[in-house]
Amino acid sequence: MSSKTIFLDQLTYDYLCDVSLREPEVMAALRDETAGLEMAVMQVAPEQGQLMTLLVRLLGARKAIEIGTFTGYSALAIAMALPDDGCLIACDVSQKWTAIARKYWQRAGQAHKINLCLAPALETLDALLQDGKEGQFDFVFIDADKENYLNYYQRCLQLLRPGGLIVVDNVLWGGSVADPENKTPATTAIRKFNLCVKNDARIDISMIPVGDGLSLIRKK
Ligand code: CA
Repeated sequence: MSSKTIFLDQLTYDYLCDVSLREPEVMAALRDETAGLEMAVMQVAPEQGQLMTLLVRLLGARKAIEIGTFTGYSALAIAMALPDDGCLIACDVSQKWTAIARKYWQRAGQAHKINLCLAPALETLDALLQDGKEGQFDFVFIDADKENYLNYYQRCLQLLRPGGLIVVDNVLWGGSVADPENKTPATTAIRKFNLCVKNDARIDISMIPVGDGLSLIRKK
């Protein structure tokens, strides 16, 4: 027994997956194809995808934003929980990776819910704000370049409705954020982001050690 979060050894992690994962075949196939790519480490874990599906469903979300789509696994996890007329704005800059994403979104019958914006995400977010979309989104997933996390967060908080949720990936960054000697730009940016969010009175937060660390941030 433990009164703090336990470290999951391989056996326990495998057990967790065995008794709780219900990964659809199409998502397993996408994960399989992504595992062969050189940037495979950017793939979210399947238990994380399933958690996001659950959160989107719990929120009754209709409108969502994803920043950092890669090969489309997390977008699929979000889109599957949206109603048929729901919409996910998926932001990425890579034609190459998102071509794989589009293929699997089609195969999963979810492509009609996903609006892929191939542009720097800050431009897409600023355009949404200029279009008067403030307060209109239910759910946001941030998982792109870490140096811009705070910029993404500030804009997404404006776009989110009260009671809406922002999920942020890699907030533990392999543990490097806890090592004061580690001063790489990405580590420094995540550390600064985590501190700012903790001190932000506009939100409720829970940081959970799923995958590489997830922050669940609810707008008050
Ligand atoms: Ca990530």
